[in-house]
Amino acid sequence: MDDCIFCKIIAGEIPSSRVYEDELIYVFKDINPKASVHLLVIPKQHIARLDHATQEHASLIAHMMLSLPKIAESQGLDNGFRTIINTGPGGGQEVDHLHIHILGGAKMPGFN
Ligand code: C5P
Repeated sequence: MDDCIFCKIIAGEIPSSRVYEDELIYVFKDINPKASVHLLVIPKQHIARLDHATQEHASLIAHMMLSLPKIAESQGLDNGFRTIINTGPGGGQEVDHLHIHILGGAKMPGFN
């Protein structure tokens, strides 16, 4: 997608702090961290929102989910972590490229 910020990050057209990359996903530090560790896991294939994903994306999404623990552990989160997927305006999604937030460490926001 030409006008997608996260596609531009994947392409290296916008700088990011990359922490992991493979053939399917790209992981980088959130530019406005809400916890001492705050990462974004994004698919290299542009999918705008979780509710735009279909059965054809099942293996990609499984790969994203199953990669989370090792990515979190690589950033020092050896005692657990939180994942968040905001979907659409009602879910507070600001960037229309599917992403999974990984949060952990100090300054963890609470649900209250
Ligand atoms: O889930 P939501 O769409 O609200 O989250 C988008 C996230 O992308 C925000 O946490 C924001 O800080 C992050 N972001 C970023 N780098 C950019 C643009 C947005 O890390 N260049």
